Amino acid sequence: MTVTIGVLAVQGDVREHVRVLGDLGVRATTVRRTSELDACDGLVVPGGESTTIAKLARTFDLLEPIRQRLKEGMPAFGTCAGMIMLADRLEDGAVGQETLGGLDITVRRNAFGRQVDSFEGDLEITGLDAPVHAVFIRAPWVESVGPGVEVLGRVEAGAAAGRIVAVRQGPLMATSFHPEVGGDSRVHQLFVDLVTGATTRAE
Ligand code: GLN
Repeated sequence: MTVTIGVLAVQGDVREHVRVLGDLGVRATTVRRTSELDACDGLVVPGGESTTIAKLARTFDLLEPIRQRLKEGMPAFGTCAGMIMLADRLEDGAVGQETLGGLDITVRRNAFGRQVDSFEGDLEITGLDAPVHAVFIRAPWVESVGPGVEVLGRVEAGAAAGRIVAVRQGPLMATSFHPEVGGDSRVHQLFVDLVTGATTRAE
């Protein structure tokens, strides 16, 4: 069966995610209202600006419905700002910044420092047999993880070597980097496999 994966479409690099998911043969839709969320088997929360995404998701009355779906076990994948949105705890968040939560992780926003606006590097990701070329843009990192969280990838070189930048907890995945840019769809495929597995089990 074809699964439907929504991309939260209030701000950020929505189109890039829709394109990669479409290339992988799933039904990819944008989500701006609850009726669109209801039709989804899984949700991508894109990169962008997490404070803006949070505010707009609240304005569009999407925060609570998404939280509810996450509690019910809907698979979700957050990239960069999306990782921030899925984190249970934030360091260096804006005052009063809300997240969706779900992932038992503490994420440090803009962790790589102001000077390092963006950088790229190759990293090993658990489940993939060759390194991913990762693009980081004002990226967060994962400061600490709870016991149920699997670390999928760490920065391999430079000042941030060892920092956690990809995680999974049950049906939830997040990366500090942007697998939606750069033409490598393997990280999305990992998420599609999660959604397909979850949907099959639910039937
Ligand atoms: N720094 C951004 C934030 O706090 C995230 C950047 C990104 O998604 N590329 O939301």
